[in-house]
Amino acid sequence: MLQLSMNMPSVTNNPELWDAVLSRDASRDGSFVFAVRSTGIYCRPSCPARRPRREQVQFFQLPEAAEQAGFRACRRCRPRRVRHHHPEIELVRRVCAAIEENDEQPLTLEKLSASTGLSAHHLQRTFKEVMGITPRQYAESRRLTQFKANVKSGASVTAAMYDAGYGSSRGLYEKSSAHLGMTPATYGRGGRGMRIIYTIADCSLGRLLVAATERGVCSVALGDSDIELVKGLFAEYPNASIDSKDTAISPSLNLWLNQVLEHLNRKTPRIDLPLDIRATAFQWRVWDELRQIPLGATRSYQQIANAIGKPKAVRAVARACASNHAALVIPCHRVVREDKTLGGYRWGLERKRKLLDAEERALTS
Ligand SMILES: [Zn+2]
Repeated sequence: MLQLSMNMPSVTNNPELWDAVLSRDASRDGSFVFAVRSTGIYCRPSCPARRPRREQVQFFQLPEAAEQAGFRACRRCRPRRVRHHHPEIELVRRVCAAIEENDEQPLTLEKLSASTGLSAHHLQRTFKEVMGITPRQYAESRRLTQFKANVKSGASVTAAMYDAGYGSSRGLYEKSSAHLGMTPATYGRGGRGMRIIYTIADCSLGRLLVAATERGVCSVALGDSDIELVKGLFAEYPNASIDSKDTAISPSLNLWLNQVLEHLNRKTPRIDLPLDIRATAFQWRVWDELRQIPLGATRSYQQIANAIGKPKAVRAVARACASNHAALVIPCHRVVREDKTLGGYRWGLERKRKLLDAEERALTS
């Protein structure tokens, strides 16, 4: 049985890595990749592309780990094609490849263990050390990616779902909300190439707009008038084609609208909808954290910053809350100031107050 040394290099916060990126050090290709939050792309150290600002950059040991975090491979430097220097890490890559080749029939840990010559325990531990998740979680995230690719290439949601190995839509929605942070942002700026339809309904907080693409909900907004809401949607996606007419997506849109209304009226614990929103990896981390706040509870901006491991990023967290596209679905209203005053709310402070009061009442009644 192969024994692994567990002293693999840590890549999270090493100044030497940034030096290698700045000097385009080709000898470091294969020992790590760097990902750029603003573009969503990751590169090998020697990539000829222009260098981003340091604070935009995140390091990963493996291309697969960068993809797991929602980044896409750079088309110029093709970081997936480099072999990794460390045999342990190369082994994890082989496990990733084996999982990817067996999308429909997920491999058991035992089978993976047999094919690599490692004990199941070692395999699990090494994989988790490098990737931050278990082989099983990796397989699930691959299926989700596959599903999205199928939908994007024009398959219907149902067909794409079965092609990606999901037995039911319920399974898919559970997975996609659990993996919310990994929705790859594939649309152009301002929604170029997006086809959006919207619908508006009355709710306890005024008028409610829900807009969606064929892949999921792209906007949930609250307002006083329909015109204000529609204007807001056009401002959010200036380059998209936006329509309120009946289309093939309408049945899903109505279903999603009903889920939001049901949450508002009956206080169902959470809203699980597929989301199709372009955002940075950082925004997704914040939004994911917001979705962990239970109904009836609040967190401070500082607590969210701590929870995502960025205690100093309080202002960035507040900005990510303010840039939320999906009111209620991503419950940014549950974040308040340290002293319990409300802070801001994109859809009006009065609504934030009402929402929090109602949620607290729902919990105590
Ligand atoms: Zn590159």
